[in-house]
Amino acid sequence: MELVLATNFDDRLVERVRELPVTTFFGGFPTSLTGGGRPPYILPSVTEDRFAEHLEVIHRRDRRFFATLNTNDLGLKEYEPDFLDRFRAEANYLLDLGVDGFVVAIPLLLEILRSDHPHVPVSASTFARLRTVNQAMYFRRMGAEHVILEEGNRDFQLIRGLTKAKVPVEVLVNQTCIRDCPYRAHHLNTSSLCSQEGSSPIWFEHPILQCGLEVIRDPTKLVSSIWVRPEDLAVYEEAGVHRFKISGRNRSTDWLVKVAQAYTSRKYEGNLLDILSFVQVKAPSQALEVAARGPSPTPKDVEALQKAFRPLQDVRIDNQAFPPGFMRRIAETDCEHLSCESCRYCASVAEKVVRIGGAPPSRYHPPAAVPPSFRVLPSFGGAPAPAKDRLEMRAR
Ligand code: SF4
Repeated sequence: MELVLATNFDDRLVERVRELPVTTFFGGFPTSLTGGGRPPYILPSVTEDRFAEHLEVIHRRDRRFFATLNTNDLGLKEYEPDFLDRFRAEANYLLDLGVDGFVVAIPLLLEILRSDHPHVPVSASTFARLRTVNQAMYFRRMGAEHVILEEGNRDFQLIRGLTKAKVPVEVLVNQTCIRDCPYRAHHLNTSSLCSQEGSSPIWFEHPILQCGLEVIRDPTKLVSSIWVRPEDLAVYEEAGVHRFKISGRNRSTDWLVKVAQAYTSRKYEGNLLDILSFVQVKAPSQALEVAARGPSPTPKDVEALQKAFRPLQDVRIDNQAFPPGFMRRIAETDCEHLSCESCRYCASVAEKVVRIGGAPPSRYHPPAAVPPSFRVLPSFGGAPAPAKDRLEMRAR
């Protein structure tokens, strides 16, 4: 097994996982020419010196560091006459700082990097949204070393097809994105654009609120979403996947170590949400709290949304209560061509493992009426949230 671990640029992280099978760390500056996969306001700020020093520590432990240039939208900057020179300069600058490889989502950037630096490894990001073997083959032919899956994590026909085609696969294991999320495209574009130098400031990504409301309406989505339990890594290994990615660039060192240990030991006893990047409740709740204190044009709507999130403040997934063979059952199900409402397998598992205020989902009553989230959208733009709130949101 090989782990690819997010870094928060704390050198103690590298030391504390030195006995674990972490081969590669990944991360980047909060803003850059291309932007990347996380908004700048949740990431640790890092100076050029700190960046280079951290990479030295990583190299001393014989690990690699990949820089995330994984924007999925360049905001048409790629058509500007100096873009190519500026991108090349940025890649060279990162390589000079000690970067060993890159993570990208846009084929154009992959082609430029392969042309300029044919021996520097590049991975195809989850932001490339690869869902078919043919899509992945394009990225392989363009020179991607690995393709990273997230949305297709539980599509074992895809995974087996990729490994059969000899496409090296990396699976991102600890995100709680809902399966087939309709807000995903907009969310990825939002993250990509707001992390580009000079972009309009925002301080919260509205699609997370939309996604959170889906979980409020139906908490069984917490089980059908795209995470992978540490106990289920073997199902992926049998399908030919041996490289697993752990996200959490905005999280503490203790948290990242705990998650890496759980996946290394293939076991976690407790609330599964503790080791997942669970964004659907805490982040929107904090954002609504900040919005409520600001000059909101719609205080009643903010209040109603806050009320809707309240019962889910106490939600847990008992990782020891899962039925044996949970992921094998999903691996045998054609989830891509079924509706979860008709299948109900994950809902039946949720009844056993999800607890809301101590009770199973069948005893939870979603709010009868929730105002449309778009009414509070203007609250999330403009000046960033106050520093204290930004700090809290970083830990989401
Ligand atoms: S189709 Fe069935 S097994 Fe697949 S995610 Fe939906 S409920 Fe779960």
